[in-house]
Amino acid sequence: MSAYITEGDALLYLAPLYNADQLLGTVQFHASLAEQNAFYERIRDLFLYAGLAVLAGGFLAGYLFVRRQVSVIRRLNRAAQQIGRGDYLTRPPVRRRDELGELAEGIYDMSGSISSSVEQLQEEKRKLMEAIARLTELERQQKQFIGNISHELKTPLTSIRAYADLLEMYADDPALLGRARERIGTEAARLYELVEKALQLSAMDVYDFETKAAQVELAPLLAEAAERIRVKADAADIRVELALREGTVWADPDNLMHIVLNLLDNAVKYNVPGGKVTLSNRMAERPGAVSRMLVEVADTGRGIPPEAQPRIFDPFYTVSGDRSRATGGTGLGLSLVRSLAEKQGGAVRLAESGASGSRFILELPIPTTPSGES
Ligand code: ADP
Repeated sequence: MSAYITEGDALLYLAPLYNADQLLGTVQFHASLAEQNAFYERIRDLFLYAGLAVLAGGFLAGYLFVRRQVSVIRRLNRAAQQIGRGDYLTRPPVRRRDELGELAEGIYDMSGSISSSVEQLQEEKRKLMEAIARLTELERQQKQFIGNISHELKTPLTSIRAYADLLEMYADDPALLGRARERIGTEAARLYELVEKALQLSAMDVYDFETKAAQVELAPLLAEAAERIRVKADAADIRVELALREGTVWADPDNLMHIVLNLLDNAVKYNVPGGKVTLSNRMAERPGAVSRMLVEVADTGRGIPPEAQPRIFDPFYTVSGDRSRATGGTGLGLSLVRSLAEKQGGAVRLAESGASGSRFILELPIPTTPSGES
């Protein structure tokens, strides 16, 4: 049996020494542990400092890493808030190759698609607002139109009714008979014209009037229109002259005939006895733009007063109620002319008007496919 004790840096080892069963003595062994203890402490310190250094380094590295991630997340957050304010991104908020980078790309893509959806929505909204404004304007025009037409219809009807009453009372008055026949005839013709033009105008507004545009040879159509007006012109002692050139236009032939007839009708109606109406056409060469065909109706009438000129294309507008009534005008002719011209991509305007007459110009599109003549 042996034992040892340590005291400070000293180690005392004791072991009995036997010879057979007889105890001879004790072996004592003294050794110094100072070196081992110092080694042990050095190792312990080494582990301690190394541990502390690793801990501090780890903490610092972790702290820096987290700080960087947080700053990236803050930038992503700011980008999201920026999108929320409607200020869309022009590039990804951060560029990285990790998950945060993917998130940034995702936010950027999302900003792009929100921006284009919002743009689309705004475009739709703009169109909707325009449509509403157009409908409101159309409704206003229709109400005004109905009000005006009712009023206009009443005038000739009142006159016809008055003559009917007079005829009932004085059936055998030959002078009254003659006057009544003439007045009732005039008023009935006026009523007819009014209803016909009103129907055409309202059909255009409501159903957006179907135009069957085609390539039309202009000169024969204009010659035919002049022929149709000739009887009325002759009766009013007015000469109709033509200065026509070959050419085709892109228009609905019926509508075109209607437009030209209305312009010619006015040129005769508002002319002076012995006067002249000239119907001509020519190409308008516009540098850098598509050429258009111009049709001109010129007369030698009394002209339109400057203050009335901006309004002559308004429905029911007549320069002087009495003068127009005397000639059977409804104030719808030029309004119809303008609507018909615009419906087929053309335009009509009063080029000039003065004491020596008026000049109306109708501008028409020409066919886009070359026809050889135009
Ligand atoms: P109306 O059926 O009364 O002729 P329009 O709409 O055709 O109606 O014309 C509107 C007004 O413009 C007419 O009342 C007339 O006073 C004036 N006007 C139109 N064309 C001419 C013209 N060639 N010369 C003078 N006045 C014209």
